[in-house]
Formats: sequence, structure tokens, C-alpha cells
Amino acid sequence: MPNLETCFMTSLQPGELHPVVLAGAGPGDPGLLTVRALRALETADVVLHDALVDTRILALARGRLIDVGKRCGHKTMSQGEICTLMIAQAQSGIRVLRLKGGDPMIFGRATEEITRLRDAGIGVEIVPGVTAATAAAASMQVSLTLRERSRSIIFVAGHGSDGALPEQDWSALVRLGGTIAFYMALRHAGTIATRMIAAGADPVSPAVIVINASRPDEHVHATRLVDLAGDAASMENGFGAGPGLILVGPAP
Ligand code: SAH
Repeated sequence: MPNLETCFMTSLQPGELHPVVLAGAGPGDPGLLTVRALRALETADVVLHDALVDTRILALARGRLIDVGKRCGHKTMSQGEICTLMIAQAQSGIRVLRLKGGDPMIFGRATEEITRLRDAGIGVEIVPGVTAATAAAASMQVSLTLRERSRSIIFVAGHGSDGALPEQDWSALVRLGGTIAFYMALRHAGTIATRMIAAGADPVSPAVIVINASRPDEHVHATRLVDLAGDAASMENGFGAGPGLILVGPAP
């Protein structure tokens, strides 16, 4: 029988602490939670969650909810403060679930949290989640890989800690010829398209903008690299409140 139980300990020795569960909540649809993340939601005493986590998922939690939300440009708590709060909660002996959007190991700053927990002598259990790019592919019913034509997938951050588009080896990205998933990238869509075309990408390469993948207010817009800037801007104006992803490459 596979272990579908929660990651938290069933009983603690004196002085022992529960490991903190660092779980991915997936892209939004509660049906895309893993069984283990659901169990953790049902058993945690406190859930420290990011702003991206869907309210329908938060409604499944039994314990107290603390929004440590970090949407770009609207920081409510610093990364250090989140770690300090998480450690204090775990040290008080309760079950702590740290819940992040998508997969915690993709653009989730998981390393900082894992390191701080380890340094404090607290165990960590990681529960992966469905990342935005695969959720978008499912919505589009288009594979991110294609035999012969798209043999790689690259996850690229379209937004750095300073808000600017991070430097990339654009020629290498274009040369590889696979699917590129740009996270946190709507604002820099125009610059991304310009850099890719300058690096040799075909201006009419297919591109897709997906906002709110897997959520009831999902929007999918197929376009071309050369039209990406205008289309991303109008989508961000129209549906800007939700997270959006850009996929470029032969597959989408
Ligand atoms: N760990 C997350 C990514 C966090 S970075 C994951 O694995 O998906 C935040 C970015 O993820 C957003 O700016 C957006 O680009 C993307 N994203 C997250 N959820 C999304 C969704 N439901 N639809 C489209 N993009 C999403």
C-alpha cells in the first residue's frame, strides 16, 4: 500500500519537532493538488501561504491561515521574516505547512527556506506540485515536447528581484530550439521578443500567453513572437490580476 499519509509525525518524543512541510499547491485548480499536499492541508495547525495560492485550496485547510503573500511589486513580508515566522511556529511544536503556488522548487525561493530550517535544526519535507507551465500545456491540450522538433523545455524567469528582465544567453536559448516557458514575464514580453528575434528566432515563431491556468477565469491567447508585446500588454490590462505565463517554441 503506498504511503498516502500526511508528512507530519503521528506522535512526538519529548523535545522533538514536526518537520515543516514545504508543499506546492499547483496552479490553482484544487483537483491538481497532490494527495500528500491535501493531507498536509487537512492536518497542519498553521498554513503559511503565498498570495498565488487559490482561495478554493485555502478553504481545504483545517488550521490557521497566514498570508505571507509575495506578489511582485506588493511585498507584504520579506523572505527573512517569512523564515523567522516559520521557524518560530515550528519550534512551538505545532504542524507547519508552508504552501507555495505551483511547484515549490521552481521560482519559489525554496532553498532559502530549506537552509534556514536546517540551520535551526528543523526537518523539512518537500511535496512537489504541478507547475504553471505543465498546467498551461494541459489547458491548451498541446504537448511541451514534440518528437524531432522540440526536445527540451526551459523554465526562464522573466522578472528578477530588482524587477528588471534578468540577463540571459538569448542565442543559446534560441539555438536550443525547444519550448521556453517564461514565468513572471508579462511585463517584459516586448523585451523578451526583441531579444529573441535579435538572437535569431523567427519572428513568426508560435507563442502563447496563458493567464490563470487551470482556474475558472483562465485565458489562453495564441500569438506570434513578433506580436507578443502588444498582445501581452492588452491581456495584462484586461486580466492583469492573475498570474500569467508565456510559452514560446515549436510545440505550443
Ligand atoms: N512555483 C510556481 C512559480 C512561481 S513564480 C510554479 O511552479 O508554477 C510566479 C509565476 O508563475 C507567475 O508570475 C506566473 O508566471 C506563473 N504562474 C503561477 N501560477 C500560474 C497560473 N495559474 N497561470 C499562469 N501562470 C502562473
